[in-house]
Amino acid sequence: MAAARVTSALVFAIVAAAGNVIGALAVTRRSTTSLRVIEHFVAFGAGFMLAVCLTEIVPAALVRSGPAAPLLLLLGYLAVHLTQHTLTPHFHFGEETHAVNAVAGTSALVGLLLHTFFDGVAIASALLVGPELGVMVFVAILLHKLPEGVTISSLMLAGGRSRGVAVRSGALLGLATVAGVLLTDSLAFLVRHGLALSGGVTLYVAASNLVPEFQGKRGWKLPAAFFAGASVFYVTKLLLDGVL
Ligand SMILES: [Zn+2]
Ligand SMILES: [Zn+2]
Repeated sequence: MAAARVTSALVFAIVAAAGNVIGALAVTRRSTTSLRVIEHFVAFGAGFMLAVCLTEIVPAALVRSGPAAPLLLLLGYLAVHLTQHTLTPHFHFGEETHAVNAVAGTSALVGLLLHTFFDGVAIASALLVGPELGVMVFVAILLHKLPEGVTISSLMLAGGRSRGVAVRSGALLGLATVAGVLLTDSLAFLVRHGLALSGGVTLYVAASNLVPEFQGKRGWKLPAAFFAGASVFYVTKLLLDGVL
């Protein structure tokens, strides 16, 4: 059973990593249609991920980490703010549309590597709880992998880097997710507390990275995608639980 779980975790991580590369390619190939679709992935993914985090990951983390869970959730949240928004000169989710200096791209990549590592920890930790949570967390992570690839590759291009560097940066983010999956199983601390830590990271990504990307935009389509994301998650959960 353990081997099957590790295999599922790896397959999930590789598919999620591919999402980073596809997002990066949409930017370097200047596919405006893809980028418009991916914009809606941000909103839908935010709703889905926020719902998974608050209704599934947090309760499961409280069981798994016990009294340490609330502090670990907070630490996960703060760690993303520190690495993505405190130590880096310029970072926000979504396509970079204005010029930035080259340092911004490199420092954003370093900051994002920690976050994408915890994307992998989240997938592996959720599978440790059970296949149902594993699938739901995988879908939540997958939905923001395309925009994540768009973010880093457009930031690299805006900083004057080549298309090759932009795509490889997306691939590096994907590799960090695969590493997160692989390390979770071999570090006893992550086996026990990875869900709580990555829960804090997931909360940050959903509520503080993804939501701000569309909350200032006009129109009804993006809010509709956001609420649809949360609703689709909840209906899927009820179907899986056999309630509907
Ligand atoms: Zn910017
Ligand atoms: Zn991520």
